Amino acid sequence: MMPIDPRLPYDDQNVFAKILRGEIPNKTVYEDEWALAFHDINPQAPLHVLVIPKGPYVSWDDFSARASEAEIAGFIRAVGHVAREAGLVEPGYRLLANIGQHGHQEVPHLHVHVFGGRQFGAMLP
Ligand code: ADP
Repeated sequence: MMPIDPRLPYDDQNVFAKILRGEIPNKTVYEDEWALAFHDINPQAPLHVLVIPKGPYVSWDDFSARASEAEIAGFIRAVGHVAREAGLVEPGYRLLANIGQHGHQEVPHLHVHVFGGRQFGAMLP
């Protein structure tokens, strides 16, 4: 039996849920059936984009357990699309997903950070 995730049920009042419903503005860089990508409001690199699945998923573990194959494939493809379209493939970029309390996840809707445009260290602090 999978343990019940204490972060569930999904909080549909989180800021990214409001962005998906169009209740809060965002600077969209890419959107398709499965994902929305938009600029982070507090960028930590010359390019800092967040990619989120359109479905109500809290985290990577929640998404990978509950989402359909099509949703998972669509989300992964969207992350790659954002990186390619931003011209990050060369010289490279960084992906990050903060999960739960120890991961310092602040917004309880799965998001992947795409950082680019500068040299990163061996690890983010
Ligand atoms: P952390 O703040 O520790 O990186 P998360 O991984 O949950 O935690 O990241 C949430 C991200 O969402 C932050 O980088 C923050 O700047 C960004 N953010 C919060 N509100 C908005 C918003 N309205 N539009 C765009 N980005 C936002």
